[in-house]
Amino acid sequence: MDLFEYQAKELFAEYGVLIQRGRVASTAAEAESIAAEFAASGKPQVVIKAQVKTGGRGKAGGVKLAGSPAEARAKAEAILGMDIKGHTVHSVLVAEDIDIAEEYYLSFLIDRAERTFLAMCSVEGGVEIEEVARTKPEALARIPVDPLTGVDGVTALQIVRAGGLPEYAQAGAAELAERLWAVFTDEDATLAEVNPLVYTGDGRVLALDAKVTLDDNAAFRQDWAAFTDTTAVDPLEARARAKHLNYVKLDGAVGIIGNGAGLVMSTLDVVAYAGEDFGGVRPANFLDIGGGASAEVMANGLDIVLSDPDVRSVLVNVFGGITACDAVANGIVSAMALLAERGDQVTHPIVVRLDGNKAAEGRAILDEAALPVVQQVATMDNAARRAAELAAAAANGV
Ligand code: GDP
Ligand code: MN
Repeated sequence: MDLFEYQAKELFAEYGVLIQRGRVASTAAEAESIAAEFAASGKPQVVIKAQVKTGGRGKAGGVKLAGSPAEARAKAEAILGMDIKGHTVHSVLVAEDIDIAEEYYLSFLIDRAERTFLAMCSVEGGVEIEEVARTKPEALARIPVDPLTGVDGVTALQIVRAGGLPEYAQAGAAELAERLWAVFTDEDATLAEVNPLVYTGDGRVLALDAKVTLDDNAAFRQDWAAFTDTTAVDPLEARARAKHLNYVKLDGAVGIIGNGAGLVMSTLDVVAYAGEDFGGVRPANFLDIGGGASAEVMANGLDIVLSDPDVRSVLVNVFGGITACDAVANGIVSAMALLAERGDQVTHPIVVRLDGNKAAEGRAILDEAALPVVQQVATMDNAARRAAELAAAAANGV
């Protein structure tokens, strides 16, 4: 999970990593009142920064200075709603302006190729760091960090010296690096990056920007509820997650339900391929209902898939293994009953392909149930073709 800059900076503050003071705002009026507080404390100059989970905000016009509360309002107005590399700006950070003397770079990350932690540091930080990394790789120091000893005062000093930071900035930068290491390890991050790390006109070293990626595998032992981003999550994906379903929304018209991630992935390909003959019909989602497809799981899955207004037909593609096809077939029959009970009448055609363990029994159960919207097709290719054809027909009002 990636954090917004303001969230990363909240973490930094908890660990004593020096940052500029600031607060987040989601309206221009809020930005103005935060700026007014800074003005009242004798700091009328503020910076308004777009909060989006992508870099290059400065270059995209998402970072602007404002000299008064009124100007802060106008700049926030301009930045809110902006699109930066496909990310809509829903909030801005209003922070006290910092007198920047120099811009450096510092990060901790996991170097998967070398199977180690890595510190990266450079005296040439700022918005051109990618350029520096490409054209002058020697200017970006890469220092492996031993996970057992971590980063203490001595290692921190080695890191900032390797990055070529000037003598006068080394102590402040090393102290910040030591604290940033604590953020990185204690918060189970896979990336903690500060670009730029600045040396200010009054001789302080602080994190002007903050980028943190948390390791989702550690969520069970961390309290990250406050970081959940409700603006980015698709509402259907959020509902699916609440029901512990492995669902990803796509942009096509054929709803997909399958068991096993590999089977579902190949079902997406086969549907997209078959759909080419029907004017480019594509899959509407990825949904893996996993091994134990109970009636309830099947009902929840169908419910989510059919709630997608773009869906015109559904393909249920199951290869019976430990969960045999007769159980899946019973699941589909009960799911239809459950949905009818909930008042969700199913009208879209559902193509079912059952194969593998107890396929014959499963098919017999569905034949017996004679559900009006369900049609069975024996092979994966033909089932995909039929589902695509039905979606195209529905879209054309046939
Ligand atoms: P990014 O472009 O998304 O990485 O956003 P940054 O937070 O790194 O900001 C980009 C650039 O804007 C920085 O390198 C600074 O030069 C400038 N900037 C950011 N915050 C301030 C600030 O408080 N004061 C001033 N004067 N410039 C800032
Ligand atoms: Mn930056």
